[in-house]
Amino acid sequence: MIKPDAVLDGHSGSILKMIEQAGFRIVAMKLTKLSPERAGQFYEVHKEKPFYDGLKEIMSKSQIVALVLEKENAVADFRKLIGSTNPANAEEGTIRKLYARSLESNAIHGSDSDENALLESRFFFSRTEEY
Ligand code: ATP
Ligand code: MG
Repeated sequence: MIKPDAVLDGHSGSILKMIEQAGFRIVAMKLTKLSPERAGQFYEVHKEKPFYDGLKEIMSKSQIVALVLEKENAVADFRKLIGSTNPANAEEGTIRKLYARSLESNAIHGSDSDENALLESRFFFSRTEEY
């Protein structure tokens, strides 16, 4: 998911280009907006964290780009492409290093397992099994 600030900052096109050039196939894509409640649902695993309320606010402030991507070893390779959660620690050339504003507003989300990738795909797209 390309996060609201990255869309607001006009980086969607550059980020999509990096994703495609890294060998990912886009199988579903949608520009949409999350309510604070739905953003909270998406990041439910973090509901006890002190940054949860801020995260809900940041994730619902504007449009996001939801993507379903395919590639061999997609989860690990995508996390490599996006870089560390905190852009200050992200490697040069990664999406977060290039386009994140801060730890709280770090440009892009990547699934952390195949299982969560499927759940998150279904969160945004109702017929993912057909892609
Ligand atoms: P994401 O799930 O968005 O891909 P991630 O897996 O790298 O990020 P998580 O630990 O799952 O990192 O945190 C989810 C999101 O919560 C981060 O992307 C970041 O925006 C925010 N976040 C994480 N840790 C902090 C923190 N210590 N302070 C503020 N915000 C944080
Ligand atoms: Mg995460």
